Amino acid sequence: MIIVMKKNAAEQEINAVAEKLQEKGFKVHLSEGVERTIIGAIGERTQAIMEYFMRQPGVEKVIPILQPFKMASREFKPEPTTVKVGDKIIGDGSLTIIAGPCAVEGREKLMEVALAVKEAGADMLRGGAFKPRTSPYSFQGLEREGLEILAEARKVTGLPVVTEVMDPRMIEVVSEYADILQVGARNMQNFFLLRELGKAGKPVLLKRGPSSTIEEWIMAAEYIISSGNEQVIMCERGIRTFEKYTRNTLDLSAVPLIKQLTHLPVIVDPSHGTGKWELVEPMAVAAVGAGSDGIMVEVHQNPSEALSDGPQSLMPDNFESLVTKVRAIHEALQNI
Ligand code: PEP
Ligand code: MN
Repeated sequence: MIIVMKKNAAEQEINAVAEKLQEKGFKVHLSEGVERTIIGAIGERTQAIMEYFMRQPGVEKVIPILQPFKMASREFKPEPTTVKVGDKIIGDGSLTIIAGPCAVEGREKLMEVALAVKEAGADMLRGGAFKPRTSPYSFQGLEREGLEILAEARKVTGLPVVTEVMDPRMIEVVSEYADILQVGARNMQNFFLLRELGKAGKPVLLKRGPSSTIEEWIMAAEYIISSGNEQVIMCERGIRTFEKYTRNTLDLSAVPLIKQLTHLPVIVDPSHGTGKWELVEPMAVAAVGAGSDGIMVEVHQNPSEALSDGPQSLMPDNFESLVTKVRAIHEALQNI
């Protein structure tokens, strides 16, 4: 439930309400706005409890949170969550561009593409060391060696690293190398993994499941937040529909919806969202137009020889053109 304090509520009254909530077993979040304080409270809400808090000094009203997600909701926490990684802040109105190959394929290849995306204006480097492939016979990633290569690329380029963790047993080791832990679309409802990521102490990039509703996706974020980690970045990457020209159908309505329904930052992955490199730039532009906090795109120096996702990978010069366009759109929108 949400407890809205009166405009002139004294600090003592606010603290007293927060303490009483905690005594009754509620998790509490204080949002101190310019006008008034709003207290988000998660716990067993009964009519009697609501009436009890309604009677407390300084309380203006008590409103139940009707949505199934609580801690992720905008009502619970009206101010936007920001995620600081290196010198970038995701969710503060700036635009973060994450780029790199689908998979880390080897030391030299990764270094080359990492330097190229940095040169073109990327803020962070992506690359999978553990690859969730549809076929067990496809390239599965370089695993630990891939993580080491990513860490070396971070050192050389200064770009923070985003990489996927597929297994709760690997969280510790991936955390040693990565700045952001990615949950792949196929693992969005791996609830045990989500719970463990709640304790990881690192930001989590949560991709939308290929067949997930917005509500299921936010509930996945709720698992991570309620387990102790509010640093969650949502990533729209397309959903499965009847359409066959594209690999997935990129649902850009997710961007404003996530912003309305939650306080979390949201980015868009137009590479997996379309599966076709020619569609990546226009959809990245559209994503930024829709208010996305960032984009994540796959870049490869030689897409026709990529070990995974070549058809959706941009060449470095196409990526550079994308960066110029999305930054221009972002700036234009900020100046309106
Ligand atoms: C990826 O980003 O490397 C990836 C595997 O994407 P998704 O989980 O969205 O399919
Ligand atoms: Mn990929």
